[in-house]
Amino acid sequence: MGTAAVLNREQRQHNQEKESLNLFNSTQTVIKEALDNLGYPNESFELLKEPLRMLTVRIPVRMDNGSIKIFTGYRSQHNDAVGPTKGGVRFHPEVNEEEVKALSMWMSLKCGLVDLPYGGGKGGIICDPREMSFRELEGLSRGYVRAISQVVGPTKDIPAPDVFTNSQIMAWMMDEYSRIREFDSPGFITGKPVVLGGSHGRETATARGVTICIEEAAKKKGIELQDARVVVQGFGNAGSFLAKFIHDAGAKVVGISDAYGALYDPDGLDIEYLLDRRDSFGTVTKLFKSTITNKELLEKDCDILVPAAISNQITIDNASNIKASIVVEAANGPTTLEATKILSKRGILLVPDVLASSGGVTVSYFEWVQNNQGYYWSEEEVSTRLRNVIEDAFRKVYSAAQNHHVDMRLAAYIIGIRKMAEASRFRGWV
Ligand code: NAD
Repeated sequence: MGTAAVLNREQRQHNQEKESLNLFNSTQTVIKEALDNLGYPNESFELLKEPLRMLTVRIPVRMDNGSIKIFTGYRSQHNDAVGPTKGGVRFHPEVNEEEVKALSMWMSLKCGLVDLPYGGGKGGIICDPREMSFRELEGLSRGYVRAISQVVGPTKDIPAPDVFTNSQIMAWMMDEYSRIREFDSPGFITGKPVVLGGSHGRETATARGVTICIEEAAKKKGIELQDARVVVQGFGNAGSFLAKFIHDAGAKVVGISDAYGALYDPDGLDIEYLLDRRDSFGTVTKLFKSTITNKELLEKDCDILVPAAISNQITIDNASNIKASIVVEAANGPTTLEATKILSKRGILLVPDVLASSGGVTVSYFEWVQNNQGYYWSEEEVSTRLRNVIEDAFRKVYSAAQNHHVDMRLAAYIIGIRKMAEASRFRGWV
């Protein structure tokens, strides 16, 4: 690799670490605001402002060329006062400690918000799975489980898929954990293939949850979904299924994007065709000549905007130019706190990430329950239960926002943090 490429990668890593630190700090800011709002003393904030445990591990993997490469991985457990911690494992070159910590805190908020008996956890490995063989990925997945096996387990901390990890990786991890413990442990991890105890509906759960939030938000704004024009940024697991569900519901998807560009057509895009042509990393715009940038897409005319790609997309620089009257955050942290204030002042209804993307962890919880009881539910059963959970959470957040005169983000944090703060107090921790 040339010096320029190495510098480029180092610069990207540096920028990502800075962004993650911002994310971590802004999460702490809203947690503080939420606890103050609920009247909890400063000790509660001191406990909840950081994860209880953060483990860093080194994972040796024999690569296909015979060499041994050492990877760095993390597992963060934010708070286990309510129950075992729960959260995905991310494989990405820009994974870093601050990001894993912040994401584990968000998982706590999500679990509290949808009333699951969990605290938040998160894991990550610094690697680029797009450049690794199947065999190398298996070695890395198994090595990670061996390295963290002391602190995880079905009643301690339950991992799941996240960016660039999938059901195959979950299957290897479950198998490795079961070998270490010497008994079959499907409840150790969620997001498994259905034949290994995975739940029906897990793959599409996040997008289903986002769709339910869009339906609820549209009702509040008096928008008929059949007449709505929707822009979706990102066409990966979350964005592509969501585009399909919203298209099936009769809405017009007028814009989509991926990391390489965006497509916009005020008459509506051919979603079936785009779904058919996208690759497994959620890339499709490379097939088209006339594309626009992601930045341009966000400011296009539409009724509902769904950022479903990466963080920090709606900022102080473009918040005043957003045309949508509803923004539903499928991605983690796509809107900065300053931008949230601008949108709120402009009367735009923002459904925050911790609520909008909680469908995934909800069906992960269903999977764990099914594994524990050894009795499995149909897709319809999963779907009905998911709808009940998300509709209920939306109602609670919306009315908390009205009652406390705050935006939906702070309202979601207030509900999300309450259970954990209360459980920590009952346990006598603070
Ligand atoms: P993914 O990797 O499957 O897809 C990501 C999409 O974003 C791809 O289309 C990619 O091309 C695009 N993208 C990447 N970099 C981009 C950039 N710089 N600008 C514009 N687009 C870019 O990921 P996913 O699972 O769909 O997750 C998307 C977001 O949703 C993430 O923030 C993730 O944390 C969040 N989320 C996902 C789930 C889930 O179950 N999939 C659950 C909760 C939250």
